[in-house]
Amino acid sequence: LNERGTAVSLALYALCTLCGCVERDSAPGLAKERASRPRSLDPGQYWPRVAEARAVGAIERRVVRGGPGFTRLVRSDGDRIVFKDEEGTGADRLMSPEVRARLTELARLVRREWPALELRVTEAWDEDDEHGEDSLHYAGRAVDVTTSDVDPKRLGRLAGLAIETGFDWVYCERTHVHASQRE
Ligand SMILES: [Zn+2]
Repeated sequence: LNERGTAVSLALYALCTLCGCVERDSAPGLAKERASRPRSLDPGQYWPRVAEARAVGAIERRVVRGGPGFTRLVRSDGDRIVFKDEEGTGADRLMSPEVRARLTELARLVRREWPALELRVTEAWDEDDEHGEDSLHYAGRAVDVTTSDVDPKRLGRLAGLAIETGFDWVYCERTHVHASQRE
């Protein structure tokens, strides 16, 4: 830039700062999206209000133990998370890295909301065909959670916390909250 160019750039920048158009693109859109996020869900409700496959993408392939994709799964060792592990295989601790990141944050929000309770995981990656045909659990992209007291009255707010955490799709089921994530 020559001197005149620099002066023009500076003037433009000053103008943009004054009128606020520098920020106009991102901030209000984000704020609007945040404001529309529900604080809790009713039983049977999901958010966003589109089919799960549209929100997070359909399952590409099932991950089987030792098969392709298995090494991408990571283990959650969150010591403030209760794992049901009814299979006794540790599968409930395995999930995609993206799901683990949100689960860790969700555990923090649960403790903030109910200091005496912890987050409880009833399902994560599923290798035993326990879900519907195209379930994201088979790819480690979904988790089912409750609070450690397993009180169904808390599920609606727990769903709200899962949304706050940034899970891409959250469903308040009768006995747990199902939350799933893009790859
Ligand atoms: Zn589920």
